[in-house]
Amino acid sequence: MKTLAKNKIKEAIEILAKESKVLVPMQINGISKFAPWGSEGTLDLEAVNTVLPPKDLLFPNTEKMYSYKVSNQEITDYTVHNEAEQQVILGVRPCDMQSIKCMEDVFLTKSYEDEFFKNKREKLLTVCMGCAKTAPTCFCDSMGLNPGKHEAADVQLYDLGDSYGVEAQSEAGQELVSKWQGLLTEGEGTIPQPACTLKVDMTGVPEKLSKMFESPVWKEVSRKCIGCGTCTYLCPTCYCFDIEVRNDGNEGYRFRCWDSCMFSEYTRMAGGHNPRPSKTERIRNRYLHKLEYFNERYGKNLCVGCGRCLAKCPVNMDITLFIDQLKEVAVNE
Ligand code: SF4
Ligand code: SF4
Repeated sequence: MKTLAKNKIKEAIEILAKESKVLVPMQINGISKFAPWGSEGTLDLEAVNTVLPPKDLLFPNTEKMYSYKVSNQEITDYTVHNEAEQQVILGVRPCDMQSIKCMEDVFLTKSYEDEFFKNKREKLLTVCMGCAKTAPTCFCDSMGLNPGKHEAADVQLYDLGDSYGVEAQSEAGQELVSKWQGLLTEGEGTIPQPACTLKVDMTGVPEKLSKMFESPVWKEVSRKCIGCGTCTYLCPTCYCFDIEVRNDGNEGYRFRCWDSCMFSEYTRMAGGHNPRPSKTERIRNRYLHKLEYFNERYGKNLCVGCGRCLAKCPVNMDITLFIDQLKEVAVNE
């Protein structure tokens, strides 16, 4: 296997940064997140996962879509802002790599292609860092993933101790690895086979949930939630958004920004009706979407087991406890 000495990783990143923007996991002012190489902060490839997910690379928090000018009641200048730059994300973990696959399902399949997402995805190369250890809140293997690698990444890195094992998994990945030729050596090493300590049993969960829409359990499950939306903003697979228009005199623009199904306004309609009027309906929707609806539509869970929501929820709502408790819930057949 080709190996890259750990003390050469910055050189390897510099090589990529000559041609593309390179996003790496960093500690910046006490926040762990993906940031462009060269940002002020510390490279942190040892952290099990970043607190902030990398979803804004493909689906920005706020994104200008179109702008226009109006003169004599005619549109004079209409611009679509769908340009994208070449980017490499290096150090993305297998759970977050899977979240990119989920986003691809949403934005690129079922006869709809979102050009804003598509342009960014086509220009993104992924270098996945297999986990050598897992955090107490990780449960990706219960969601069918392998914490050690993800096949969909262009390049897979393995933590071998003093070096990284390097494996190209696509043509673009081979091209990327060829740029590191001068830094790589032929080496031996044991590829880590980590397992999560937190486990959930997903057997029959989507099927059971499909019979639980009217269950009284949702009221009890949602009791603690304060509707802050932290879980959805930190979740790498949550993709709800809102589109708004800003007008200023004779010009304006349309943009989309992240929204959250945990907010009451999210489903409030123009006439005031709200089909999810309380947190009971909102938590039900969140869990059914993650564990049932997405599975029915795309054949995979919309939870990748990254553990961010259970680590950061201010009132300790825990999707893994919910899945465990499901076994005790009676349903009408
Ligand atoms: S982070 Fe916790 S309290 Fe906040 S909306 Fe999510 S489940 Fe509710
Ligand atoms: S629901 Fe929670 S554990 Fe699952 S992917 Fe989202 S943040 Fe991670």
